[in-house]
Amino acid sequence: MNLDLARTTLKKVFGYDQFRPLQAEIIQAVYDKRDVLVLMPTGGGKSLCFQVPALTLEGTALVVSPLIALMKDQVQGLRANGVLAAYYNSSLDTKEAHKLEDELLAGNIKILYVSPEKLVSQSFLPLLKRLNISLIAVDEAHCISAWGHDFRPEYTQLRFLRRQFGDVPLLAFTATADKLTRKDILSQLELRDPALFIASFDRPNISLHVRPGQKRIEQILEFAKKHHGQSGIIYCLSRKSCEMLAEKLNAKGVRAAYYHAELPPNLRSKVQDDFINDRIPVICATIAFGMGIDKSNVRYVLHYNLPRNLEGYYQEVGRAGRDGLPSEALLFFSYADVQAYRQMIEEGESSDEQKELKLAKLNRMYQFAEAPVCRRRTVLNYFGETYEQNCGNCDVCLSPPRQFDGTVAAQKALSAVLRTGEKASMSILVEVLRGSQRRDVLERGFNKIKTFGAGREYSYDDWLFLISQMLHHGLIEIAYDDHNNLKVTDMGKAVLLEGKQVSLALPSDKEKEKPAAAGKSKSTVHQTPVQSLREGLFDKLRELRRELAQQHGVPPYLIFSDATLEQMVERRPISDADMLEVSGVSERKLQLYGDAFINAIRNFVLEKTNEGQKVTGSTYLLSWDLFKKGHTPEEIAGMRNVSTATVVSHLATMYERGENVDIQKWVSPEETDIIQGSLSLFSEPYVMKEIYDHFGEKFGYEKIRWSIAAFKRRQRLV
Ligand code: ADP
Ligand code: ZN
Repeated sequence: MNLDLARTTLKKVFGYDQFRPLQAEIIQAVYDKRDVLVLMPTGGGKSLCFQVPALTLEGTALVVSPLIALMKDQVQGLRANGVLAAYYNSSLDTKEAHKLEDELLAGNIKILYVSPEKLVSQSFLPLLKRLNISLIAVDEAHCISAWGHDFRPEYTQLRFLRRQFGDVPLLAFTATADKLTRKDILSQLELRDPALFIASFDRPNISLHVRPGQKRIEQILEFAKKHHGQSGIIYCLSRKSCEMLAEKLNAKGVRAAYYHAELPPNLRSKVQDDFINDRIPVICATIAFGMGIDKSNVRYVLHYNLPRNLEGYYQEVGRAGRDGLPSEALLFFSYADVQAYRQMIEEGESSDEQKELKLAKLNRMYQFAEAPVCRRRTVLNYFGETYEQNCGNCDVCLSPPRQFDGTVAAQKALSAVLRTGEKASMSILVEVLRGSQRRDVLERGFNKIKTFGAGREYSYDDWLFLISQMLHHGLIEIAYDDHNNLKVTDMGKAVLLEGKQVSLALPSDKEKEKPAAAGKSKSTVHQTPVQSLREGLFDKLRELRRELAQQHGVPPYLIFSDATLEQMVERRPISDADMLEVSGVSERKLQLYGDAFINAIRNFVLEKTNEGQKVTGSTYLLSWDLFKKGHTPEEIAGMRNVSTATVVSHLATMYERGENVDIQKWVSPEETDIIQGSLSLFSEPYVMKEIYDHFGEKFGYEKIRWSIAAFKRRQRLV
């Protein structure tokens, strides 16, 4: 099996021209019947990696998915593109389940989503065995790991899949990148010589900001007002703050709802529904909200409180901007949050080992918020990715602290890490560097190593500050499965042994108040006419999308994503062929919604032009509009104050783009044949004068223009 069919399917069914990074490789591995583990961030495009093979291979693909809401959303999305997809979970009644079983046995389902509970139930296996299974995909595979944050006990029973379905490729997908989780997935699913794909976890379209937590309510109100009408999530720690914040936002004219685990289920799903369907733009929620929401046009995620760990932070932030358009993440940091969590963890029920892990992760979160290092660099290095540059799209990059050559300081610390046999935690390491006589230092003989006391020039806090930066730079890492001891990374070795330079922020600058990064919002800057025109059209299309969504009973972003609407605004497609070139417009969606969007775009362009605005591409439309109203080219020329030849050329352009015109009024089929026969002698763009001369003035310009239009029209329609 090769990728050509996969590419055609990508375009036909999903409307996309190109695979995203790794998608093609992953699909090829499935075709090669390999087991696969894919680590890819939210929004990276995991679903297509199993959906495209599912559609191109024979049989039914099985997708294990942990949440009913998520399944429903994915199945709806697939059906919107004409794919035979279904889900099987506890929400089906007996009759529905029987009907689905019949469909499955008849081979009418290409992609079946199943909950893990259903899958492991005794009654389901016999049915499965009777199906021709093309592949099995385990989505959200980190749910298998007790180390992770979304542990689902039923996932641990999935190991039977590998045993029962001998040569069916088994694919595991997750957006959680840490190494322990990865190990767990591989071993528990018993993946067989798996191909491992780790995508970059970078989400460059999301700008990352951290601000001090003072006056955060005012800051949030201001932010939300600036982003009027856009979808956003504000994460809060407590039920009470969710409710309070929603109330304040509403009082300020920002429509907002709240969501937390204590709301009755029907209210919870109503809030979720209102959000998904663009009826309520802002949700103030605890972390109970979000998992299972595939909404692609969330424009911002705010954290009213510090998240408990970077995994959680990044996952929540990742809910913004799945469509790839610019989006914002803003975190409010207060040390009080750190203290509160610390206390909660210490007084909690977990085992000592678990507590230690939670505290260590909390510390990293805290350091992230506090260290003056590019935020993206910090998170990505935390996930084990080597990201050496500064991103230019976070608050630190946009207003950087003062730097000094930290190579010597870093070398001292790195050397101490190695000389303690990589058996020192961060606090012990600082004690060693400062030559402390603490008992645990002496007992372990760390006072005898060469670097003992080599760093007395910095205070204890300064060292913590420097070391946390080294951590964020990826020079050292913390081994969470080895008592949080520090280890030197390859990059760290390059600094220690090869003298690679490191630039660090001056500890004395730490307290300096950073100016709050100015929110870049579309609506606050002065707008050029072109911008306002674009926004006007975007709003029109968004409104149309909402109406269609309501009629069809699907969420708006399943009609077209924001990214697709933006491209429509950019290109203003006014024919089917133009429309199909827009990324995200599949054949099915063109059939269903193409006319509505083309009409909206045409009307918008005409309306604006009639109001006296200059709109590129409008001139064809104006002539066409008058022609459709029954005027002759000569009349139109008079009305528009242009030549008849120009009007005819406009009409020809519209014909070329797929509009119907009886061109025999201008040129006979025989003449067209002759003129088109000569086109191979010329190259595009055709110069009419050359063709005119070629035939020794035998055919007039109009005839040539129409023949070229007919030729190009045919080319586009094939
Ligand atoms: P994930 O499951 O990794 O969070 P999704 O599969 O939901 O991500 O994809 C995120 C968004 O990107 C979706 O709107 C999807 O349609 C879009 N997408 C995926 N692959 C492509 C591609 N090759 N070209 C354009 N858009 C894509
Ligand atoms: Zn940055």
